[in-house]
Amino acid sequence: MGENDFAPLEPLPVRPDEEAEKEIRHPFWHCFCCQDTGKIQPHLVRRVIPSYNYERDRLPICQNCHKGHDWFHLNDLGVIDTRLGPQICRKLDSLAREDWRLTAQAWFEMMKQRLEQATGEITAEHNLRKRDRIQAEFILVQEKHGRARGDWEEIEDSEVAE
Ligand SMILES: [Zn+2]
Repeated sequence: MGENDFAPLEPLPVRPDEEAEKEIRHPFWHCFCCQDTGKIQPHLVRRVIPSYNYERDRLPICQNCHKGHDWFHLNDLGVIDTRLGPQICRKLDSLAREDWRLTAQAWFEMMKQRLEQATGEITAEHNLRKRDRIQAEFILVQEKHGRARGDWEEIEDSEVAE
């Protein structure tokens, strides 16, 4: 391949809004507590262990879904934290769902606004063009009628300016 050749890319079609909306409103995880990883999301852990440090502290394991089981074998190694029981995990799951819902809502408001703004700009431009065209057509019709009547006069720009 030459220096100025490009590696071909696949096109990126604009996705229909409803599809993106469906994906955001019904997100990818079954369990919001651990996002299906078995490890409770650090920002959720901090609701229960305020000074929790992901780098330093034992991993709190999700007990809201079965994914946590993948981690329980590490219990003997002292690297996991099982104190956040099913009740806490269930509560964290619903907190995270509410967070998600609000975030998705804010995101959609933003996208809708952007779309409306863009559409508004396009419409304004379109209307301007249409108006210009109508004006030009109107002048042509005037000229045609004037010539037919025999009283059409070319008006020089300089005369108009005076
Ligand atoms: Zn989970």
